[in-house]
Amino acid sequence: MSHDKRALVIVDVQNDFVEGGSLGVAGGRDVATRISQHVAAHAGDYAVIAASRDWHHAPGPDGHETNGGHFAAPGEDPDFVTTWPVHCVSSEGGSDYAPELVTDAVTHHVRKGMGVPAYSAFEGVTDDGAALADVLRAAGVTEVDVTGIATDYCVRATALDARKEGFAVRLLDGLHAGVAPETSTAAVAEMRAAGVTV
Ligand SMILES: [Zn+2]
Repeated sequence: MSHDKRALVIVDVQNDFVEGGSLGVAGGRDVATRISQHVAAHAGDYAVIAASRDWHHAPGPDGHETNGGHFAAPGEDPDFVTTWPVHCVSSEGGSDYAPELVTDAVTHHVRKGMGVPAYSAFEGVTDDGAALADVLRAAGVTEVDVTGIATDYCVRATALDARKEGFAVRLLDGLHAGVAPETSTAAVAEMRAAGVTV
């Protein structure tokens, strides 16, 4: 065992991001199951286990609450790059953790995207209003393992932000799923170039 303290970050394993959700990613449920198995086997290795949820305002009856342009505006099609179908509305079931994710060992629940686009878990806050980076530093964490959905969006952004915050970062093989193969491959290359161990 090293003396470095390690955190596990589980990104956006939510109903809307797994099969059947409004932005469902193929393989999402399997990833959720494997993350749960990883946590069951390795929870003791982690000083912090943080799970993030995308947590948006409801679009409202006229659809004009776009969460800062994150949801496609009424009458417009999402481009799936910067605008998206309605997803992870805080008051609806799509924002709940996917049932395959066992959250008993999660020490910090992080929410992000309240009225704004937010891809990285480092943009979110805990139930106490603390930023994730501050939580990790307060716990003495120096190394972060990143898992979750989607490899090419929120996992990518979280891993890159963890590097910017000065943490050693690993992307755990088999514990993440992406929207599309090309963008996922590019995202993994970008993470590796930023010093993420893949
Ligand atoms: Zn979102």
